[in-house]
Amino acid sequence: MPSAPKVFVITGPSGVGKGTLIRGLLERVPELELSVSVTTRAPRPGEQDGVHYHFLTPDEFDRRVSAGDFVEHATYSGKRYGTLRSELERRLQSGAGVVLEIEVQGARQVRAAMADAVAVFIAPPSSEALRARLVGRGTDSAEEVDARLRTAERELEAQPEFRHVVVNDRLEEATDALVSIVLGEMNTGGPQASPR
Ligand code: ADP
Ligand code: 5GP
Repeated sequence: MPSAPKVFVITGPSGVGKGTLIRGLLERVPELELSVSVTTRAPRPGEQDGVHYHFLTPDEFDRRVSAGDFVEHATYSGKRYGTLRSELERRLQSGAGVVLEIEVQGARQVRAAMADAVAVFIAPPSSEALRARLVGRGTDSAEEVDARLRTAERELEAQPEFRHVVVNDRLEEATDALVSIVLGEMNTGGPQASPR
């Protein structure tokens, strides 16, 4: 019997609803924990260091890259983002499954480094819906929304690389689909119906 995969990579363009879907996933599958990423971008209002991200300066980020501290790291919209090996290993050692919420370049690196990681690509129902969500979230300037949408066009081209794709149209249905994929991979090595 294959060993249960313990690392779940949730990827897809900014604003597609990854964070929202992951909140639903963690409520429904409490044995999962979210890895706290490192970033060089500024905290948004309400974001706390060590909770939403570990906020580092570019120099500190570089030092940690040189020290080999990252499982994966990438530059996104001019800022750097990465997953610390220590974050991942501490959680895995405690027996938890770990969820990574990361952009596509990082997802590719995890896939290359960890053959048993399960990656799920979250896709928007349309480009218009993606724009509306990014604007509606209210966390990014108009210029930043445009930059993220340009990046999203490239990220959406990566969708066929992923065995699991969830279209986040109706939130409840998309959450059910994500939970089903994760429980399936945890229990049997394949998707199954979600026990609700
Ligand atoms: P991401 O983590 O991928 O950047 P978020 O989870 O922050 O995306 O979601 C972006 C915005 O879209 C948020 O305001 C969220 O409430 C909204 N949203 C998420 N999923 C849906 C959905 N299925 N339908 C409509 N709005 C959604
Ligand atoms: P935001 O600035 O909106 O918090 O994140 C921007 C993008 O970076 C999102 O697509 C988010 O998923 C991604 N991201 C967050 N943490 C990481 C990480 O540790 N590694 C990588 N590669 N991307 C990340």
